[in-house]
Amino acid sequence: DVTATKGNEFEDYFLKRELLMGIYEKGFERPSPIQEESIPIALTGRDILARAKNGTGKTAAFCIPCIEKIDTAKENVQALVLVPTRELALQTAQVCKELGKHLELQVMVTTGGTSLKDDIMRLYNTVHLIVATPGRILDLADKGVAKLGECKMFCLDEADKLLSPEFSDTLGRLMAHLPNDRQVLCYSATFPVTVREFKDKFLRKPYIINLMDNLTLKGVTQYYAYVDERQKISCLHTLFSKLQVNQSIIFANSTNRVELLARKVTELGYSCFFIHAKMPQHHRNRVFQDFRSGKCRNLVSSDLFTRGIDIQAVNVVINFDFPKNSETYLHRVGRSGRFGHLGLAVNLITYDDRYNLYKTEQELGTEILPIPPEIDPALY
Ligand code: ADP
Ligand code: MG
Repeated sequence: DVTATKGNEFEDYFLKRELLMGIYEKGFERPSPIQEESIPIALTGRDILARAKNGTGKTAAFCIPCIEKIDTAKENVQALVLVPTRELALQTAQVCKELGKHLELQVMVTTGGTSLKDDIMRLYNTVHLIVATPGRILDLADKGVAKLGECKMFCLDEADKLLSPEFSDTLGRLMAHLPNDRQVLCYSATFPVTVREFKDKFLRKPYIINLMDNLTLKGVTQYYAYVDERQKISCLHTLFSKLQVNQSIIFANSTNRVELLARKVTELGYSCFFIHAKMPQHHRNRVFQDFRSGKCRNLVSSDLFTRGIDIQAVNVVINFDFPKNSETYLHRVGRSGRFGHLGLAVNLITYDDRYNLYKTEQELGTEILPIPPEIDPALY
């Protein structure tokens, strides 16, 4: 069950009536376990380090307390939500706008790949909540355009990714712009050691939430098929002819392979888009919107879409290339089976991937089974 375990209701948190309306209009009837754990604690002002499964409502777990605490009568930036990718920023800002729809809440999304000048112009007007990727917001803060001196709430979604070496320098510099009495809320489904260092350095006695268990990928049936590299396409063809795909994401390990594969899938006669980080941003946005709205059934992606992307219609994830580590596996496969929906993951495994497959199973404590000749459609 994905909804409340303690039997709480959103009413129990004494939220602003307008926020409550936004929550219900989004179709949320009751808080999910991570929301039950987070919301009351976050409202007290305490730092949080939370780990919870994919698709269980982490976004609202930190956005609801942020929006509750924002005083819309003021004009300053009061909350900053940091995410690792641009598409995730757009998605998260959308959630904030919807939740805050009945408040005079001003939400701004700012990421690389868009006009800096437009962002500067936007900041002349009132902004209460910013959703950003690290580089751009640091740039705006360094320029003194984004004034974060009174931004007391700082959320890190996909926190372990944001704390990885790739971002750690940017993050440290960004933290320096925030006030000392800020509240930090960190969320992810995976938390390797890097997070511990951050916790010691930047968090004050955080409240730790861990809602992971052995059923990490509950609801997602996972299969593998042994193939030669050269057989992968025909294997994919067979899969598509057998599976009942609502929407699918097919992961490949490099941008080149993403483009080649998308071409092959199209040649096989299946409608398909592709997305990767080297595409121009406006193009990425269009693909994201079109896939989200269901205009296209299949998406070939690099690891750009591995984390956070929430499209409930996705019931099949295919690892055309097996991911390099178990965390990436978890996040990719977690694109299906969201909020109690079922999902199917199929992994194409070459000889070289065998050990990795075994290691992933061990590390995640999950079961990846050989693919049967017929797959029961009721499973996904
Ligand atoms: P996570 O970040 O944990 O992977 P998301 O925040 O993306 O998960 O939420 C997954 C899906 O669940 C979203 O489509 C969201 O709208 C939905 N959802 C979140 N909370 C609730 C709730 N309390 N009731 C119903 N649906 C919810
Ligand atoms: Mg998320």
